[in-house]
Amino acid sequence: MKYMSTRGRVSGIAFKDAVMMGLADDGGLLIPEQIPDVRAHLEAWRRLDYVSFAQQVLRLFIDDIAHEVLDGLVADAYASFSEPDVVRFAEVGDVTVLELFHGPTLAFKDVALQLLGGLFAHILAERGGHLNILGATSGDTGSAAIAGVRGRPGIDIVILFPQGRVSPLQELQMTTVPDANVHCVAVEGSFDDCQSIVKSIFSDLPFKQRYSLGAVNSVNWARVLAQVVYYGYTSLRFDKAPAFCVPTGNFGNIFAGYMAHRMGFPIERFILATNANDILARFFATGDYARGSVHHTHSPAMDIQVASNFERYLFYLLGEDAGRVRTFFENFTRTGSASTGAPPKDPLFLATAVDNVSTEATIRSVHQRHGYVADPHTAVGLQAASRFPDVRPLVCVGTAHPAKFPEVVDAVLGEGAARHPALDALRGKPTRRVVVPASEDAVKAILRQLGD
Ligand SMILES: *Cc1c(COP(=O)(O)O)cnc(C)c1O
Repeated sequence: MKYMSTRGRVSGIAFKDAVMMGLADDGGLLIPEQIPDVRAHLEAWRRLDYVSFAQQVLRLFIDDIAHEVLDGLVADAYASFSEPDVVRFAEVGDVTVLELFHGPTLAFKDVALQLLGGLFAHILAERGGHLNILGATSGDTGSAAIAGVRGRPGIDIVILFPQGRVSPLQELQMTTVPDANVHCVAVEGSFDDCQSIVKSIFSDLPFKQRYSLGAVNSVNWARVLAQVVYYGYTSLRFDKAPAFCVPTGNFGNIFAGYMAHRMGFPIERFILATNANDILARFFATGDYARGSVHHTHSPAMDIQVASNFERYLFYLLGEDAGRVRTFFENFTRTGSASTGAPPKDPLFLATAVDNVSTEATIRSVHQRHGYVADPHTAVGLQAASRFPDVRPLVCVGTAHPAKFPEVVDAVLGEGAARHPALDALRGKPTRRVVVPASEDAVKAILRQLGD
């Protein structure tokens, strides 16, 4: 399997090179040159456990890592999950919640980042060299990325976060990690400052090369691929093809579902659920993709105005025409908006936006009626699911453990409503972090000390 860019100027890329490239060199996103058809395998695959199923799916997309080696990487990635079969299903009324948050940091990002960490380590061991991962986080991504690479030889990770503006628990999930290759950096500024520092360091190409900088953001194809697995796996547990409701920000998680559908897994439709940052819901209603200002909501991991994975979907929506994709995103970069001219004629997607008040009401009512404690991101999905009562059977993707967001969950359900022993154990542990001013030079100085 080879990979190509949505912007048409990069193609014939092997999987391992796609993993190391992240963003395609022409500014587009990497996608497989052909989408594998799984329909002939479905009967046999129904009987597999999660890890065996993941191994089969990944083999279709990866032909430059020997099967036994790949199988080992997959098994290792999911050995860190507390659920014996990696994911767990919870019946919440007439909706099935697919709980993806039983990994080391209790958010669904572990499903992809545990595998990506192993892939990076494997590729570096083979090719030699060192990787300095640089990223910015407002919460979930940082701790999941750190958990994916902590202690791995050949890799250092530097994560920036805005000082005093990350939830105390999420900060502890990063700063209590004792491994010497983990560097937590509190920036005296906002999350936007952190992001713009990262962006401007990555755009300094000589510096990027000299210090072997790598990214772990959700544009990496390996992250999407790891997420395709749970859509396929779940779809085979139903007699009738289910729909999926996905709380999304970057369109990463839901794009993986779309890919699973294109591969021939029995998936009926998708309900796309955003919070008040509704750029994606607006696109599906109008065909206009227009940047707004970022609203801070109860579901901070979805407080995103530019959905980095949306470009992959748009490529297929625009008839796989890389020229049209290029024009669309050139317009968007220049003016902050772009349009397909009309609402997309894609019956596969329904979309809706959920505000903070409805998120709280959903946490309350789901608990009252079904005894289920949902985190605010999953609650956005459950609220969206309730708006489309005819779309059944329906799987709502559960993206975080509620104990990660006590500020919201406890305020609605009462003190201590959501606890997890792994989070309780963090309190009082020694922490490590450095504090720097919001300047590119201060962060570059840290990277220079790590060397190349
Ligand atoms: C990252 C994240 C999301 C959004 O995922 P996308 O891939 O950006 O759609 C939703 N919920 C939680 C808890 C997350 O950490």
